[in-house]
Amino acid sequence: MPGVRADLEALTRIPSVSLDAFDQAHVEASAEATAALLRAEGLEVEIVREGGRPAVIGHVDGPPGSPTVMLYAHHDVQPPGDEALWDSRPFEPTERDGRLYGRGAADDKAGILAHVAALRAHAGALPVGVTVFVEGEEEIGSDSLPTILERHGEKLRADAIVLADSTNWAIGEPALTTTLRGMIRVVVTVSTLDHGVHSGMFGGAVPDALTTLVRVLASLHDDAGNVAVAGLKEGVAADLEFSEERLREESGLLDGVSTIGSGSLLSRIWTKPSATTIGIDAPSVATSSNTLVPSASAKVSIRLAPDEDDLEAFELVKGHLLANTPWGAKVEVHLDDRGLGFAADAHGPVYDEARAAFRDAWGVEPVDIGVGGSIPFVAAFAERFPEAAILVTGVEDPDARAHGANESLHLGEFEKVCVAEAVLLARLGALPR
Ligand SMILES: [Zn+2]
Repeated sequence: MPGVRADLEALTRIPSVSLDAFDQAHVEASAEATAALLRAEGLEVEIVREGGRPAVIGHVDGPPGSPTVMLYAHHDVQPPGDEALWDSRPFEPTERDGRLYGRGAADDKAGILAHVAALRAHAGALPVGVTVFVEGEEEIGSDSLPTILERHGEKLRADAIVLADSTNWAIGEPALTTTLRGMIRVVVTVSTLDHGVHSGMFGGAVPDALTTLVRVLASLHDDAGNVAVAGLKEGVAADLEFSEERLREESGLLDGVSTIGSGSLLSRIWTKPSATTIGIDAPSVATSSNTLVPSASAKVSIRLAPDEDDLEAFELVKGHLLANTPWGAKVEVHLDDRGLGFAADAHGPVYDEARAAFRDAWGVEPVDIGVGGSIPFVAAFAERFPEAAILVTGVEDPDARAHGANESLHLGEFEKVCVAEAVLLARLGALPR
């Protein structure tokens, strides 16, 4: 572990922010550094670019007839944000109370080093073939990933895929992420007039677009706060302890404001749909005048059950919005973005060995968790390699603060992640052929 830790710190010192406004020479440097780490473990390595940031692909054969395992992580990071909010410099990894602080120390450079650690544990005698794929643009949406999978997919083909970019349930409680929600983002535009008119002269008989839009948006939920679009799927979340107190604290919900929706809290944030209005184009309060607004738009972010089809969901949402537009107002609904969710088939020999490996490393049984957000690359891998078992693992814990100030890695848990992955390779190599 000391060597793994030193390599993690060196990688974390490279400020490989993939966002356009940042110097992309650092992303090149982190790709090179990642390639060097893999070469040192005996992998044949190339850096590929398909119109986006550099990705690193490394491969080493296993014993004849052994399965191939593909290990995924990403070497790009989020911007540091306001450095004044950090207690130590974001790109100077610093240990405090058993945690290593730094942008990317957890998300996802520790994912890269977990893979390297697993390779090192088997140095010279890998029980399986291993392909490592380290992407360089996960934090900006993996735009060129579909092209990489199309052009280099054969190199990435594997019997099992380990995507190390998620989280564990708690310190001492390992988890496999078995569901992710899908999403669609829609823009709804309501028009009632061909120009703005005096609200005193016509208000009372003529509907304005903004009030009409508000009624359309209000139709997205029932009185209890459940999404009211008929036909959308709802999944069942794992039965884990998750208190309302924890939800209130983690989300910053104000005293007296109730939660919305029904069913378990985890089903509401992991497997049931949600609808959130995230922006409105309308006159601002400061510049508004006594005018009936002729046209107004809103952008709505809708999260979908893990096994929902995003395009079918869009048709349902569009139909709902059209049907719930009052007073014959003109309404247009446009699909702004979409992404499939993920629901693992969390059974079979690979999952059995993964759970056993986690048990070996932690001494406790791992739990299955969901994540309410969407990770586009997971669905991309599931689509490209439908026959592979996909394991979504991770180095994070609830205090990791990925993307925020003071991102950190729990070093004790990280060691267990490394052990679990090394044991997993051994277990997969020992499966009967
Ligand atoms: Zn990540």
